[in-house]
Amino acid sequence: MNHLCPVCNGFTPLQQPCSACGQALQDAGRLYDFYGSYSPYREIDDAKMDNGYLDRTRHQCVHTGWCPSCQIEEKVFLDEWTPVMLVTDMEKDAYQ
Ligand SMILES: [Zn+2]
Ligand SMILES: [Zn+2]
Repeated sequence: MNHLCPVCNGFTPLQQPCSACGQALQDAGRLYDFYGSYSPYREIDDAKMDNGYLDRTRHQCVHTGWCPSCQIEEKVFLDEWTPVMLVTDMEKDAYQ
């Protein structure tokens, strides 16, 4: 595995404003998990994903954001992180 979605892996929360009202979108994948109805696509890459799914050609993870104010869903495309982005500065020094 060369790429990681920072949101699926819990490195960062979903940070995407609603295009209509600017309020932070909630990660609907997490919501679906909570309500236990995020199927039938789960089995595609269940080993990797907590939610969302991977666009393998663009290395983007697609999440569904939900604005509770506007009651709308928006697709959120997240660039996946490469392992080097996860290395801390101290660890980088160690590798040099
Ligand atoms: Zn993801
Ligand atoms: Zn909104």
